[in-house]
Amino acid sequence: MPSDTLTNLYDLTRPELGALLAGWGFSAYHRDQLWTALYRRHATSFDELEGLKPELVRALRERARLSHLGVHHESFSSDGFTHKLLLRLDDGQTIETVLMRFKGRATVCISTQAGCAMGCVFCATGQMGLSRHLTPGEIVGQVLHVNRVLRDAGESLRNVVLMGMGEPLHNYEHTMAAIDVLVDAMGLAMGPRFITLSTVGVVPGIRRLADEERPIHLAVSLHGATDAERAALVPVGRRWPLDELMDACRYYSEKRGRRIFFEWTLISGRNDTAEHAHTLGQLLRGMDAHVNVIPLNPTVGYDGGPSRPESVRAFQDVLTSYAVPSTVRQRRGIDIDAGCGQLKAAVERRTRRSLPTSA
Ligand code: SAH
Ligand code: SF4
Repeated sequence: MPSDTLTNLYDLTRPELGALLAGWGFSAYHRDQLWTALYRRHATSFDELEGLKPELVRALRERARLSHLGVHHESFSSDGFTHKLLLRLDDGQTIETVLMRFKGRATVCISTQAGCAMGCVFCATGQMGLSRHLTPGEIVGQVLHVNRVLRDAGESLRNVVLMGMGEPLHNYEHTMAAIDVLVDAMGLAMGPRFITLSTVGVVPGIRRLADEERPIHLAVSLHGATDAERAALVPVGRRWPLDELMDACRYYSEKRGRRIFFEWTLISGRNDTAEHAHTLGQLLRGMDAHVNVIPLNPTVGYDGGPSRPESVRAFQDVLTSYAVPSTVRQRRGIDIDAGCGQLKAAVERRTRRSLPTSA
């Protein structure tokens, strides 16, 4: 059988793995043995499955695969904290994964799509368009990769943020399957409260997430507090206007009893004045909300620049006057193109420049 038609075991949640193995005549006990070998003992190939039933290992060799992501490019920030990876998928696509290593609380930022269809004007990933959704195994594979890096250094992973390339709620099923693998108590056992999903504001996805039982954190990218201003930066704001988006956020907050994080990329002169802050304060007043303001990382395809520090402070002061808490998030590792999609764009530019030009 060609290897890409074999089932990648990392694509499966534990119940799905159980169904696959049951079809081959193996019990839930064998499923759990295999699961712990993969996610607790970190077996990376079928040669490392000691203790499993030999018939099961034989069946796996014939009918399944364990697909790992290769390193296409990697770089480290000058402060040593940020490790940026461009990982290669089986079909040659590349995706970004960023590991931020603060002692004892390493965080990984992972991608859910190769590219993105949402077209936010300031975002390097949006400027590329969508190539394809990632499979659950490709989403989980990013965590497995950084886990290996951290284990080799005697460290461990604490937080996962779905804020890399792509829109997680546009790839809902695969993203949720990946989260289910990450939190599975018999395997990686990551705390759901240490997982944050960031969405551009896909309203049906937010409502669906509210109705399901995954106690993860939700972050919603706003960037504009009127429909016209938001749509100028986030084109899908036209499809899901702010009143629908805020209704979905309130529904999520009430149903899940959770605070929502709102992200606001501050762009000089475009959405960083006191007037913008007042409109945002009025929109969020009274909600259980926290705003993360992120000074823009300039991208090649967008002419905007980051806000000045005094504008950032003034913006926060206005939010405080509405009792809306906020934090400034510096996108770490700016010196290594650590903004979403920027490393991939930079590596592709360099590759193009070094290719021989045709006559
Ligand atoms: N698609 C999801 C998650 C990935 S983007 C979303 O949009 O929320 C994660 C966050 O990074 C979003 O808030 C996005 O607006 C922000 N972002 C993207 N490009 C940026 C840039 N160049 N500078 C600052 N923030 C950026
Ligand atoms: Fe996609 Fe998020 Fe970038 Fe918008 S900001 S284009 S939704 S990855």
